Amino acid sequence: MMPKHHPDEATLLSYAAGSLTSGARLLMECHLARCEHCQARVREAEQLGGQLLETLQISPMAAMSEQALFALLDEPENQPEQSDVKNRPVSASDGRSYDVSDKQEQKPDWLPEWANALLPWVNKDTSWQRVAPGISQIRLQDDSFSRDKAVRLLRIAPGTCMPGHGHSGSELTLILQGSYSDETGRFCEGDVADLDPDIKHQPIADRDQDCICLIVTDAPLRFDGWVPRLMQPFFGL
Ligand SMILES: [Zn+2]
Repeated sequence: MMPKHHPDEATLLSYAAGSLTSGARLLMECHLARCEHCQARVREAEQLGGQLLETLQISPMAAMSEQALFALLDEPENQPEQSDVKNRPVSASDGRSYDVSDKQEQKPDWLPEWANALLPWVNKDTSWQRVAPGISQIRLQDDSFSRDKAVRLLRIAPGTCMPGHGHSGSELTLILQGSYSDETGRFCEGDVADLDPDIKHQPIADRDQDCICLIVTDAPLRFDGWVPRLMQPFFGL
């Protein structure tokens, strides 16, 4: 089934422009593997970006001498593979290389095929760390995530209610397994919740199975109430 909830326009354009943080980019790659609708949106955004680049480059170039132009093109940083966003493969994750076939047998049961981009960070033996009753997490650590506040997998037991919270930055959530509902709707496998800082929500996992999500935040969450707020440093949220 095609996802019903998609990343918003700003996230998509940033992805196409290559300006998302590594964590957000990883999340987008997983969603794109599952969502033809967003694959088409990314292609459009990349075309639009290419046209914009051409428009921007034409005016200064026109005033340049041919000699100056060739000198500029010979600069190593102006080689086509680095400036041509249209040729960038959708599946490349910031140049990180790994062999998916090697990792396949190490794949955890809960990881769907379409989210194989997560295999460099998790395997069958990766253990979940309990953070609260019914809630456990795996923090994905990587130098390339330095611009993200946190990149984590969250596992929420059936029927568990997350503490209500707002955000001091943006939060991207991708559902890998199960489903949850909050004030903004019901989110199922493959869906992305793309939340702005002004949205407060309280997700509740549906009762049929664990809900497992990939969550990328670029700023700490702000919890309601003093108990969750006291626990926040321990959650590392
Ligand atoms: Zn989509």
